[in-house]
Amino acid sequence: MTATATELPRGSVTQELGFPDDPDNLYTQTVNTMLNAADLINLKHRTRIILAQPKNEIMVHFPVKMDDGHHKLFKGYRIQHNNACGPYKGGFRFHPDVHLDDVKSLAFLMTMKCAVVRIPFGGGKGGVKVDTRELSDGELQRLSRRYCSAIMDQIGPDVDIPAPDVGTNAQIMAWFADTYMMSSAHQHHDALRCVTGKPVEFGGSEGREKATGQGVADTLAEMLPGIGIPLQGMKVSLLGFGNVNGWGGQILQDMGATIVAVADHTGFIRNDNGIDCKALYQHNMQTGGIAGYAEADAINEEDFYRTQVDVFIPGALEQMIKEKQADWLDCKVMAEAANAPCDPSGDRRCQEKGIEVIPAILANAGGVTVSYFEWVQNKNAVTWSAEQVDRELNRHMVVAAQRTLARRNELKCPLREAAFASALDHIGDVYKVRGIFP
Ligand code: GLU
Repeated sequence: MTATATELPRGSVTQELGFPDDPDNLYTQTVNTMLNAADLINLKHRTRIILAQPKNEIMVHFPVKMDDGHHKLFKGYRIQHNNACGPYKGGFRFHPDVHLDDVKSLAFLMTMKCAVVRIPFGGGKGGVKVDTRELSDGELQRLSRRYCSAIMDQIGPDVDIPAPDVGTNAQIMAWFADTYMMSSAHQHHDALRCVTGKPVEFGGSEGREKATGQGVADTLAEMLPGIGIPLQGMKVSLLGFGNVNGWGGQILQDMGATIVAVADHTGFIRNDNGIDCKALYQHNMQTGGIAGYAEADAINEEDFYRTQVDVFIPGALEQMIKEKQADWLDCKVMAEAANAPCDPSGDRRCQEKGIEVIPAILANAGGVTVSYFEWVQNKNAVTWSAEQVDRELNRHMVVAAQRTLARRNELKCPLREAAFASALDHIGDVYKVRGIFP
């Protein structure tokens, strides 16, 4: 029997599974968004409880030799949320704030993200609690290799495929793949598919590095005209200027947008005539941040958020937009380039203010989509041109955006619920035909 909203009062699944009664917990927040969308589409109860918890939660501790000869113990995670639609897929991050609940939420969001763009993957996420700024290159390499060896038996090219995320990059993926391929069980070149986001010379795909930013730009190009914002001359502010917004800002600038304010961990800058993101990218590469960029004024946090723009793009860490920041915001659209950039109070405030939020599971799906292309190229031993990658990425993003808009119109709900509903449509269909073993 199909479960309906009336049969399943709000909170019943979280109560049934014994979740902590804390609406401000990121994991509870993520599950509640899924449950709201599940209500809208009458998703079966069994699918709701399966999705409410990850399938596997792997926690590891491993020592790494530091340059001064002593050993330090690190804590790592790999959360495998769901693999109904394909192998677990998602990045791993190196960051001092890596905690179990956050990694669980991020793994959950990967399941939803892969389903929104209909790529044949499930969701996973990993991480190590570490401040990479305190590590030498050698220490970073040894840490990356030990993390790989700690989780090696639980992942694999057709099981669980990691990728870059916050604090990790193509070089780290190369060390990861090399470590995996050195193990006696994986000494065949197909083992290269164990990780994506690799350097182009070692099985990586053209266009992977810029893919998340490109996907944000593709999504905006598809959706903004319908919201009444022309791309040409639209004003944009960027929170974060790392891989995602560093590339996204340059691509949007090429499409005719004016980037008027940027923030990162080193400061906040503004120039009402436009900040040249290509020059800022170079400055960032040379100095490690945006602070000190000569062609813009240094401003404070409040002035950054209060800058009047058409589109605000949070592309840094999760939970940075709290009620205070949401209150300050002066934008029509928020495109979530980072995963879960709003905390529950920030999300509520944005809704009250009528800000149109393009959710991360749609807006930032470009990264994992090009990871899928990399995996397909590795599997078939072929390489695609940059043009082919861009074309296929755009096709995936456009179709996913249109599907989300169609769901929004049918279900009369915000875009976040509509994107979750579109993901759940697909996962629900897969469970329907697969059934539940035994
Ligand atoms: N870490 C990225 C994300 O959050 C990419 C994941 C992947 O390529 O597997 O979507």
